[in-house]
Formats: sequence, C-alpha cells, structure tokens
Amino acid sequence: MAEATRFDAVVVGAGLAGATMAERLACAGRSVLVVDRRDHLAGNAFDHPDVHGVVIHRYGPHIFHSNSDAVVAYLSRFTAWRPYQHRVLARVPWRGRSELVPVPINRITINRLYGTDLDSAGVAALLERLREPRAPLATSEDVVLNAVGRELYEAFFRGYTRKQWGRDPSELDAAVTARIPTRSDDDDRYFTDSFQAMPADGYAALVERMLAQPRIQVELGRDLSAAAAHALAPLVVWTGPLDVYFACDYGPLPWRSLRFEHEHRPVICAQAAPVINECDASVPFTRTSELTQITGQVHAGTTLTREFPQDHGEPYYPVPAPEAKALADRYRTRAAAEPATIFVGRLAQYRYFNMDQVVAAALTQAEKLGAPPDGPSGVRLHADRVGG
Ligand code: FAD
Ligand code: UDP
Repeated sequence: MAEATRFDAVVVGAGLAGATMAERLACAGRSVLVVDRRDHLAGNAFDHPDVHGVVIHRYGPHIFHSNSDAVVAYLSRFTAWRPYQHRVLARVPWRGRSELVPVPINRITINRLYGTDLDSAGVAALLERLREPRAPLATSEDVVLNAVGRELYEAFFRGYTRKQWGRDPSELDAAVTARIPTRSDDDDRYFTDSFQAMPADGYAALVERMLAQPRIQVELGRDLSAAAAHALAPLVVWTGPLDVYFACDYGPLPWRSLRFEHEHRPVICAQAAPVINECDASVPFTRTSELTQITGQVHAGTTLTREFPQDHGEPYYPVPAPEAKALADRYRTRAAAEPATIFVGRLAQYRYFNMDQVVAAALTQAEKLGAPPDGPSGVRLHADRVGG
C-alpha cells in the first residue's frame, strides 16, 4: 500500500502520449509514475543504434510531420530538429513489368508509366479521363478510383492495401487511402505539412528529456493491468490498447500488426530512396526503409528494415473499418464512464493517429486536467547529422 500513496498519477505507456501527459502533469505539480512493459522509452517511435552502430527504428520508420504550431513548439522544448522532407518510391506491377516510380502519384509517375511527356495540365486532363467518379466516397476503393481510375488503383493501392490490412480497400474507411494525395505537378514529397523534420538526437532521446523531471519516476519492463494501475495512484493515464483496459469484455478489437526484418549491408547506401513501397501483392512485405537516408547518419554500413503485415502480435494499427469502429465505440462509451482514467494515444483511442496527433491529443487532455501548455518556445533547426 505504501506505493499507492506515493504518486498523484500513474501513466501506463512511455510512448509519446504517455510522455506528454507525464511531462505536463509534472509541470502542474503532480507526482507521476510512468510504467512501460517494454524495456525502453518512446513506444513505437523507439530508435537506437543496432549492433553495427546504425541507428534504426525498431518498429518501422517514423518521420515527424505536422501542421500544428502548438505541437511543434511543445516538442521543440526537448529537441532540436534536422530538416527532412520524406520521399518514397513505389515498385508497381505495370503492364507485365515492374516499375520504380514516385508515390504519391505525380507528373513524373504518370509520364514514366504512360511513356508520355505531359505538362501539369496534360496530366490533370489524363487523370480526368482515367478516373471513375464515385459518390459518396465511402471506402478506400472509392477514394482511389475516383482520383485515378482502375489501372493505377490496381498498380499502387489494391495489392499494397490488401497486404497491409488483410482486407480489400472496399472494406476500409475512405480515410486510409485518402492519406495519399494525387498530384499533377512534380512535387514528390510524401507529406506536405508545414513542418517536417527528424528529432536531431532521435525519439528515444526526445522522450528521455521529456521525462527527466524530479516529479517523474519511470519503471520499464512492467506490464500493468487496469486494476493494478488503479492500485498505484488516484489517476490513471492509459495509453495501452483500449480493449485490453476492459479485459476485452466485448471481445477483442481488430488490430493490425507487423513483423520487422532488419538486414545489415556493408555498403553506404543500399536503395534508391529512403523508403520503397512494394505494391505487388506477390511480394510478402509492404515496404523497405533505409534509416540512414532519413536520419542523415554517416556510417560505413547501412541497415534495411522490411515490414511484413500480420494479424497476430503487437497491436500497431487500429483497423479503420465500420465494424471495428462500432466495437470501439462500445468500448469508448465505457471509457467515458471511467472518471479516474484518461484514455489517450493511438492504442487507447483506437485512432489511426500520427505522432503529432498523439501529442496534440495528450496536450488537450492535460489541459483539461489543469496543466495548461507553457508559452511557445523557439523551434531550433539544425542540419547536423546524427551518429557518425
Ligand atoms: P505507443 O507508441 O504504442 O506507446 C504505447 C506504449 O504503451 C508502448 O510502449 C507499450 O509497450 C505500452 N503499454 C501498452 N500496454 C501496456 C501495459 N498494460 N502496461 C505497460 N505498458 C503498456 N507516425 C508519424 O507521425 N510519422 C510516421 O512516419 C509514422 N510511422 C509509423 C510507422 C509504423 C510502422 C507504425 C506502427 C506507426 C507509425 N506512426 C507514425 C505512428 C506512431 O507510431 C504513433 O502515432 C505514436 O507512436 C503513438 O504513440 P502512443 O504513445 O499513443 O503509443
Ligand atoms: N497505400 C497504398 N500504396 C502505397 C502507399 C499507401 O496502397 O504505395 C495505402 C495503404 O492502404 C496504406 C495507406 O495508403 O495503408 C496509408 O499509407 P501510409 O504510407 O500513410 O501508411 P503508414 O505509414 O501509416 O503505414
């Protein structure tokens, strides 16, 4: 019982949601215990040097991008940034051959695939002829057919999506493929957010700095049930899976998982882009990332990470589909009736959040608890490379 009286709040999960909540609560004068069942900080954004000294993202490539000045200002108190604009190539099955082209689809993509030399207006006109107008845009299939038509849909989206989610795009919410725009100009950036950068020292260092406060205690390698968490403090911040909090009472929520394969190569650069998407359904993985191209680390070797989607294992993605939402809504109704628990983050809110959205959600929750955000701080950008 001694432990029960020591903390004002216990935060379950040391990812970006948990770290933001803990930092804000501590700044508001509360004592906080942060617990994570893994042996490291930063949740799925965790990065570390592998045995060869190459900084990798253990759970897949994490690129920070945001349109929120408030989130950028907040995180900038704990990190400098390395400017980075993400670019992706897609290997697509195309008319009996394989092509490596920019994704999102842009002018360069179209001209390469169709063997044309169209300007922007020409590409827009071609897409207008190719598209299959759909209304309403209810599913992920509708979104892509409506934008680019069937041939490009089959090449870029159908196989990749079926691998990634284990479902057809027609069974997924429109928002999934709506993450990927279609362009008729030469912009080949994956994101268009006003702020795009990598934390200069990585995500683990960022989270470590967020939690480096006398009022915060961190315990790694400890799995907490909801009951065990409530026994530790009067307030629980839950960033683990929403269904797990309720012992899956209404049945498990669907989650999509990944298996990561990290392969070291004794070369400086192993592939033509930081990330290559594999859109052909017959390739068992969805993408390969080369982290040195993202972090800017200069190293004699490189490590490639491949993502193999699977149903079992760690929950990485909530599934944006109608029946999953219906079940999540039942759990959300129950969560709203838990006065001593805050549910925040990608797993706890069962939302397909990017990192900045997770931090924004946590800042909002913390504010409701009386921990207002401090004034904005300057964004420090520096072009230094990490590692070496
Ligand atoms: P998490 O990072 O999942 O942290 C939750 C933590 O809680 C975990 O560490 C877990 O171990 C712990 N936990 C859970 N249950 C318990 C328990 N019972 N007891 C103790 N601890 C527990 N976002 C971007 O913005 N840009 C990207 O490029 C990007 N790429 C991604 C690539 C992949 C492959 C994946 C899977 C996600 C990506 N994301 C990206 C999303 C990003 O990972 C999330 O938005 C963010 O990390 C979620 O933070 P979180 O704190 O909510 O959850
Ligand atoms: N997608 C696709 N082909 C691509 C890129 C994306 O079919 O080349 C679809 C796929 O369904 C994917 C979704 O668009 O899950 C969102 O892509 P994003 O790269 O944002 O996924 P994440 O990085 O979250 O895994």
